[in-house]
This record gives sequence, C-alpha cells and structure tokens, in this order.
Amino acid sequence: MTMDPFGKIAIIGLGLIGSSIAHAARRGILAREIVGFDASADVRTRAATLGFCDAVAEDSGSAVADAELVVLCVPVGACGPVAQAIAPYLKTGAILSDVGSVKCAVIRDMAPHVPAGVHFIPAHPIAGTEFSGPEAGFASLFDNRWAILTPLPGADPGAVARLKGFWQGLGSQVDAMDATHHDLVLAITSHLPHLIAYNIVGTAHDLETVTEGEVIKYSAGGFRDFTRIAASDPTMWRDVFLNNKDAVMEVLGRFNEDLAVLQRAIRNGDGDKLYEFFTRTRAIRRAIIDMGQESAAPNFGRDQN
Ligand code: NAP
Repeated sequence: MTMDPFGKIAIIGLGLIGSSIAHAARRGILAREIVGFDASADVRTRAATLGFCDAVAEDSGSAVADAELVVLCVPVGACGPVAQAIAPYLKTGAILSDVGSVKCAVIRDMAPHVPAGVHFIPAHPIAGTEFSGPEAGFASLFDNRWAILTPLPGADPGAVARLKGFWQGLGSQVDAMDATHHDLVLAITSHLPHLIAYNIVGTAHDLETVTEGEVIKYSAGGFRDFTRIAASDPTMWRDVFLNNKDAVMEVLGRFNEDLAVLQRAIRNGDGDKLYEFFTRTRAIRRAIIDMGQESAAPNFGRDQN
C-alpha cells in the first residue's frame, strides 16, 4: 500500500528504533525530509556519519519545527520531559507519536504537554533486537511485524489513518487498541519473558557449584536463548518495569501460581500433568509460526549448534 509522503518528519532518539524508522522511511519514500535529534552528542555524530537522516539537528526544537510527523524514540521515562521540551516548537496539525513499550504511562506523561491542534497518537512497534544505538538500526526491522496504535478517545480519524499508513509503509501490520489493554497484553508477551530471562541468567551466574565456564560451554541446552533476551538494553527495560508495574504484577502473580503447579507436578512425579502442560504450550508455538511471527526452521534457523 502506498501513502502520500509526509513533508518533514522528525525522529527524536536515534537508537535502534529511531534509526530503523529512518532507514525504513527512506526505503518506503514516506517523507520528503527526515531530521533526527538525540540527547547524546556522541550519538548525533555517529548518526550523522551513518547518514540515515537527511539532517541531524543540534537541538530538539529545531528538529521538530515544521515537521508534519514527530516520533519520540527515547526510553519510556524520557517521553514526558521530551514532549515538554518540544511542545512550543510543534506545528499546528502535526502528528506527535512515540514508540514506547508501555502506553498508559507514556500517555500520562506526554498528554499534558501536547498543544491544542497537535494530534497525539501513541504507538508501539512489536519489533526489536537485543542491540541498541544508531548502528543497530536496519530498514527491514518492522517488516511483517505488528505495530499497535493506542489512540486516545476522540482522536482525529484522519490523523490516525495517516499514522497507520506510515507504519504500513515501514513494513508493519497495524492494529489499534486501548492503552490499558496494550499494557496487559505486552506484560505477558514481552515484559514477563524479559523478566524471566534476566532472572534465569542472573541465577545461573550466581550458582556457585556450576562454573561460569560450564554455563557457557553447555548453553545450547536452552540457556543460550534466554541470554539473547537478557542482553537487552538495561535503561529501556528498567523504564518498562517502572512504568508498567500494575500489569506486570498481575501477570507475575499468575506466572508464580502456574510455576507452583509445575513444581508440585514434578515433586509428585505427576507425568500426566507435565505431559498435558507441555503439549498445550507446543501448540502455541505452532500458532506463532503459522502467523508468520517466527521461523519454523529447527533451532531458530541457526546454521549449527
Ligand atoms: P536505544 O537504542 O537505547 O535508543 C534510545 C536513544 O534515545 C539513545 O540514543 C538515547 O541516548 C536517546 N535518548 C535518551 N534520552 C533522550 C532524550 N531525553 N532526548 C533525546 N534522546 C534521548 O533504545 P531503543 O531500543 O531504540 O528504544 C527506544 C524506545 O523504543 C523505548 O521507548 C523502547 O521502549 C521502545 N521500543 C524498543 C524496542 C526494542 O526491542 N529495543 C522495541 C519496541 C519499542 P543515550 O544512549 O545517550 O541515553
């Protein structure tokens, strides 16, 4: 699907997601001009050298001035302060969006700063890697991945449709839902898995009777797949857990109950229970593959062990 390109778009935060949006927007010819800004002077220099933006601004105000679309690609905890800083420079009629992994807290922090006449439409691409920084971005990151829009009640339908077209142009499939529902869904599909991965890798590291050398040597037994997730950016994930506390506590409670059931089945030697549980979860992986969200190749498509 082709969309009418935006004039100028501004990307604030030039890490993995910001740089990937710039690459993909250029690939899809979704804007006539892409201007970036990052709080870090070092990141600005690296981004300018990499050249995925037409210009890298020295301050956020001049980055967003005259932009028809502004996307905040900063950690969740920075969204409010950035919105406050750029508010006086936003053009009337512009769309202001973000990519934060948590939506209720971002809306709470950004909405009070959005000037009248600016369309604030929060968004979250369900795509990423364990890498961060401007070098980590690539144009195909969003291809065939979902992007979720969480428009506020009363959002302008034309602006929502325009942002939807933009994400489709980046390669995504687009869904819309309420921010509270988004945060609960993501708590179980993304936030809890990251917490479990951080925890299991930490526990393995702390086990005194198993050496670090053995943990690394025999990691193909399953551990290795957790380490990829547990290598994710600490700032981003700190902010996710600080800002999606209620939903994470809810799913963590359920997780602990189910873990206790498995623990009891193991203690009681209840093979039927374990078999039934593992059969059900295998079907879920099959469904993810059938929906094109994962490779069916053995071992995640790796060449070798
Ligand atoms: P990243 O690679 O670390 O990039 C974030 C960039 O924002 C960094 O260069 C950071 O600079 C900069 N920044 C921090 N505070 C800023 C501020 N106040 N003003 C301007 N720039 C600022 O992180 P990312 O993975 O792209 O994540 C960005 C956002 O995308 C987060 O909200 C995250 O929740 C969301 N997201 C991430 C993923 C993922 O898998 N990574 C997926 C979907 C959504 P410094 O490094 O100097 O602090």
